[in-house]
Amino acid sequence: MEDTGKVSAGGLLGALLRWLYPPVCLLCRAPGAGDLDLCPGCRGDLPWFGHGCPACARPLPPGAGPLCGACLKRPPPFDATHALFHYAAPVDRLITGLKYRGRLSHARLLGELWASHAPVTDPPDLLLPVPLHPERLRERGFNQSLELARPLSRRLGIPLETGLLQRVRPTRAQQGLKGKERRRNVRAAFEIAAGTVPAHVAIIDDVMTTGSTVGEIARQLKRAGAERVEVWVLARA
Ligand SMILES: [Zn+2]
Ligand SMILES: [Zn+2]
Repeated sequence: MEDTGKVSAGGLLGALLRWLYPPVCLLCRAPGAGDLDLCPGCRGDLPWFGHGCPACARPLPPGAGPLCGACLKRPPPFDATHALFHYAAPVDRLITGLKYRGRLSHARLLGELWASHAPVTDPPDLLLPVPLHPERLRERGFNQSLELARPLSRRLGIPLETGLLQRVRPTRAQQGLKGKERRRNVRAAFEIAAGTVPAHVAIIDDVMTTGSTVGEIARQLKRAGAERVEVWVLARA
């Protein structure tokens, strides 16, 4: 009952399902508000991302900027980063539940919240979820970035692309690696597989720590002809 991911949330069937299974807060089991599996109290506890560096979304103190020191010294390969949340409670719990316990309902909730706060003044031509290596995909059964991108694509009307980019080399988990090691770890991990890279692309990822993974993808996209590459992350660590 937890994950009815294949059933459309719209239309008559959606209305029937909502009547049969009214929204329940995924964090505290209280009744959800509107169509969301989130209660108003828990919504108020979400660690919304505030002011950050427009290039890399490192948190900046109010009034500081425009760019953070790191981006001034060494501009990242992408043009902008938009973060929805800080990687903090209770969003961290929702993300680990999705990734390591297969709670796809968490992706639906987080993706819906993301869609209502997405930066759409200059919408990208394409949403590109960070791919998993086929081996990892087999283990996990789904790609969390793709699951988060689905509601975004549907609500914003921006196409979702999963065949353009492939992870061709398995990488060690980035956790515990330092900046330089992380960059080395993801080098040559991705390849443009087929198709044309549009001018304006948004890379979709669940958590951004140093930005080395999305940086490597942005480099590939630019080399293949993209003019503007944004990074949209659900949570910034
Ligand atoms: Zn709640
Ligand atoms: Zn920065």
